[in-house]
Amino acid sequence: MAETRYCALPECGKPFEPKSYNAKYCSSECQKTATNRRLLEKYHEKKAARAGKKRVCKSFDCNTILSRYNSDVHCETCQARLARAKRENIFDILNHIEFRED
Ligand SMILES: [Zn+2]
Ligand SMILES: [Zn+2]
Repeated sequence: MAETRYCALPECGKPFEPKSYNAKYCSSECQKTATNRRLLEKYHEKKAARAGKKRVCKSFDCNTILSRYNSDVHCETCQARLARAKRENIFDILNHIEFRED
């Protein structure tokens, strides 16, 4: 019976039948993604080590350490919050304009 493994790429995780005993990924695509990520991670690790500090979310009330994969200055939570605030702000402005017409 063929062995079933699960792709080692977290966002994939698909079950697959390994073609070789040390196959970790379901496809060459996932393999490539994982390899690139590892290289990128190493690169950022080196860069962070050189800078001597971790990047922290720029929001004044947030101390979340930013993910290596996050190139933004805000953490994902704050990014979502800011996007929401922006949307609400636009609605506020629209409401304001309506109110000013009377
Ligand atoms: Zn995969
Ligand atoms: Zn944050």
